[in-house]
Amino acid sequence: LGQVVVENVWKSYGQTLVLRGVSLTVDPGEVVGIIGPSGSGKSTLLRTINHLETVDRGSVTVDGTYIGYERKGGRLHELPERDVLKRRTEVGLVFQNFNLFPHLTALQNVTEAPVDLGRVAKTQARIEALQLLERVGLADHAGHYPRQLSGGEQQRVAIARALALHPKVLLFDEPTSALDPELVGEVEDVIRDLAHEGTTLIIVTHEIGFVREISDRIVFLDHGEVLEEGTPEQVLDHP
Ligand code: ADP
Ligand code: ADP
Repeated sequence: LGQVVVENVWKSYGQTLVLRGVSLTVDPGEVVGIIGPSGSGKSTLLRTINHLETVDRGSVTVDGTYIGYERKGGRLHELPERDVLKRRTEVGLVFQNFNLFPHLTALQNVTEAPVDLGRVAKTQARIEALQLLERVGLADHAGHYPRQLSGGEQQRVAIARALALHPKVLLFDEPTSALDPELVGEVEDVIRDLAHEGTTLIIVTHEIGFVREISDRIVFLDHGEVLEEGTPEQVLDHP
């Protein structure tokens, strides 16, 4: 599971048209890299996928379900906020700037959402969080606060936190661009493992070597339109 279907999505901010009829289907287990110039709408596209942004026209579904709406009697109705929050957890988003809670330890950052949402009891959440921290190579940093961690470590905690909600799809918005160059590799290693485990991933990044290596498909966005789409070779190896 974890199919994303974006169909003819249009989005503007005031007078600025940011997405112009974007369509994109990501199959379960597929890894899609989104590249394109700054301001081309990559971040906005990711945010529409988990309904952090609404669309002006078009639709986005995850495994056939709308995150912000439900279909009743053939018509779409907006869902109440708490239902949106629940459905949004199916699509994890990892941000450029980690966005960890500064007053919580690494472990607490990972347990917070599942406990808050009533998914699991605290003890069980802790056990799972420790396993996740181990998976991203940070089992021995569980008690550290974000300020005591390097950027790469913080981003790996952020990935563990996203995984704690068992999302069907994981979105990455420039996950390594706030990192010092020597720390990029450790975050890429974690994403690479997720790709090999069959998680559906959509990754916005400027690290062309990395997207080329891990993507099944690359989408090139320009001025809010899909300009090109294909295998890494098709999109990146132009004559
Ligand atoms: P990218 O991720 O490719 O750099 P973005 O999706 O962040 O592109 O931005 C696309 C365009 O939308 C830019 O022109 C940006 O200024 C504009 N934009 C993004 N978010 C907002 C917003 N919340 N309000 C107004 N304009 C925005
Ligand atoms: P990023 O693309 O790195 O994720 P943002 O999406 O936060 O960054 O912002 C992208 C661009 O959108 C920036 O140029 C920013 O100035 C512009 N932007 C973001 N939010 C707004 C807003 N509410 N109103 C106008 N412009 C915005």
